[in-house]
Order: sequence, then C-alpha cells, then structure tokens
Amino acid sequence: MTKTALITGITGQDGAYLAQLLLSKGYEVHGLARRSSTADVNTMRLKWLGIEDDVRIVDGDITDLSGLTRTMRDVRPDEVYNLAAQSFVKSSWQQPILTSNVTGIGVTNVLEALRLEVPGARFYQASSSEMYGLIQEPMQSETTPFHPRSPYAVAKAYGHWITVNYRESFGLHASSGILFNHESPLRGIEFVTRKVTDAVARIKMGLARELRLGNIDARRDWGHSRDYVRAMWLMLQQGEPDDYVVATGRTTTVRDMCRIAFEHVGLKMDDHLVIDPDLFRPAEVEILLGNPAKAKAKLGWEATISLEEMIREMVDADLARHAAVGR
Ligand code: NDP
Ligand code: GDP
Repeated sequence: MTKTALITGITGQDGAYLAQLLLSKGYEVHGLARRSSTADVNTMRLKWLGIEDDVRIVDGDITDLSGLTRTMRDVRPDEVYNLAAQSFVKSSWQQPILTSNVTGIGVTNVLEALRLEVPGARFYQASSSEMYGLIQEPMQSETTPFHPRSPYAVAKAYGHWITVNYRESFGLHASSGILFNHESPLRGIEFVTRKVTDAVARIKMGLARELRLGNIDARRDWGHSRDYVRAMWLMLQQGEPDDYVVATGRTTTVRDMCRIAFEHVGLKMDDHLVIDPDLFRPAEVEILLGNPAKAKAKLGWEATISLEEMIREMVDADLARHAAVGR
C-alpha cells in the first residue's frame, strides 16, 4: 500500500532531500509551504533535485492551527515530518517572538492538528543540537541536559519537550531527532558552511576578493543533509517512538572547515579571510560534538559522507551556479 507523508518545511534544505528520499521509496508526498508572491522561490530546491512535479504542495503556515487541521483531514498522512522553523540562530535575536511562535508553538499546532484528525499518524520533530548550547558534557547524547543559548535554541527545547509530552500524554508515535548541524549544496546561504563555499567560488571566479566571518574558533559536528534525512525516516519505521541524537561524532572548527573549501580550489585562506566583529553573536555555542551511538545501535544509522567530501561538493555546486549565471 502506498504510504502518504506530509512534510512541513518542504521548501527548505531538509524538506527537499526528505521528499526525494520518500519519493524514491514510493511514498505520496505532500508538502506544506507558505504562499509567496514570487512563485519559484518556493520550489527552488525541489527543482534543483528535479522533483518539483512529483510532490503536492499545500498552502499553509504552522502558526495557523485551523489550516493545519484542514490539511491533516484532507491529506490523511501516515507520517508527518515537522521540519518548518525559523531556523537561523542569528536571526532569532532579531525576531525572538516570531521564532518562539514558529519554532516553538508551531510544534504544538502541528501536534494538535495531528492528534485531533489523524491520531494514528507517526510524527517526527526536527529538534536541534543547539539545545545543548553551553554544553554540560563533552560529548552530547540523548541524556545530556540542555542549556540553550539563543531564542532559537529555547524555542527548539520547547518543541522537543512538547513532542515528548504528547507521546507520554496521548500515546502518539512521536519521535524527536536531535540533529547536529547538517549541510549540503541546498543549505541556506546565511549559514556558515554555505557562506564559505559560495564566497570561495566567487573568489575563485574573480567575482569577489574577501570573505568576512565572525567567530572562527567555534566548533561544530557537521554532517550531510542527505544522510540525516535517512535517520528521520528510520525513526518513524520503528515499533516504538523515541528520541535520537544524529551526528558524526567528529567536531571541527569553522577555521578548518573554511580551509578545506579554499584548498579545494587551490587558494590560501589567509589571503582572503577577514574577521568581522559585527558577525559575533550575543551568546555563542562554542563547541558541539554528538554521540550517535543510540542511532547506530537502534536504527542501524551511520553518517556516510565526510566533511571534506561535503565541502568539496558544495564548492563545486557553487562554482557551477555562478558559471551558469555568467553564461
Ligand atoms: P531551512 O531553513 O532550510 O528550512 C526551514 C523551512 O521551514 C522552510 O521550508 C521554510 O519555508 C519553513 N518555514 C519557516 N517558517 C514557516 C512557517 N511559519 N510555516 C510553515 N513553514 C515555515 O531549514 P533546514 O531544512 O536546514 O532544517 C529543517 C529543520 O531542522 C528546521 O526545523 C531546523 O530548525 C532543524 N534543524 C536543522 C539543522 C541543520 O543543521 N540544518 C540542525 C538541527 C535542526 P520558507 O521556504 O517559506 O522560508
Ligand atoms: P548554527 O550552529 O545553527 O548557528 O549554524 P551557523 O552555520 O549559522 O553557525 C555555525 C558557527 O559558525 C557559529 O558558531 C557561528 O558563530 C560561526 N560563524 C562564524 N562566522 C559566521 C558567519 O559569518 N555566519 C554564520 N552563520 N556563522 C558564523
């Protein structure tokens, strides 16, 4: 029997890769997307993967409970993946209330609509390693306490706990994936990896000379979105719902990640990198390192793409993008 999935945030990085994965498994894929006055903005990433005609887009916003309820009733999904969020940490200081409403309360809206209309559906919540913030253990696992450091991380912690609470209160098959940073050629340009790979491509092509960054001593556990959406799907195939850390188990500084990108095109990072104090954050998450042991043991999941492979893929994609614009 064909399974039906509903993805909120289908226009984002993970939404696009998850849609591609589910389509390859024979799912009927519906995606919630905010109406935009510029039509192709919404389908840009789906187009890049060549799947824009294969998914069914439903207009909607996760702050609108009535629309979500109607969508659940119409689509009757077997699986709901809640990926929608104001997902950029730095913006969350500029827009703390919007971030709380979308990234936090939005989760309750999706859970409520699911509980009222399709209580048998399985639910995935996109939780984040940012919840660990000021880390309480050198390697973070499912049992490490949270200490969020931004309005985004506080909202994600709420979203995580309301998911756990709906599982415990109503017996929903609701799982939370605590995903560490994951990137790809489809990553938003404001995130540091993509900002770096795009700048390296432009510098290589003579379109720019410098790259301005903030705290390059920060360390992240970076994986590839294509690997990480597989973990989301695996969580919903388990008999019992649960929470899982999804990470590579390796941490790298922004500086070293950046060096990989410059070296890939034969340039020296130190000739182009400028540190800009305006790009530092009011409170920083200095280091993240995830322990994916539970995901490996229970889901049989492991990261397959290294940071080096991913950064090279991203630089190559940005070079190709800029070359296409120049033609
Ligand atoms: P993106 O920022 O690429 O995508 C976010 C998606 O949410 C977009 O489709 C966006 O739509 C949508 N969205 C934003 N606000 C609303 C709203 N009010 N109603 C409906 N949709 C909305 O994020 P990623 O794909 O990278 O991440 C997916 C999820 O995983 C997010 O929840 C993120 O916070 C979380 N996460 C991501 C990590 C990462 O490293 N990538 C790590 C851990 C968690 P639009 O295109 O219209 O803006
Ligand atoms: P985050 O971990 O979700 O905040 O992902 P980002 O990719 O936005 O940031 C990762 C780390 O890179 C953080 O510690 C940032 O402070 C650091 N960083 C340093 N310079 C920059 C920059 O110019 N842009 C971004 N986005 N991050 C930067």
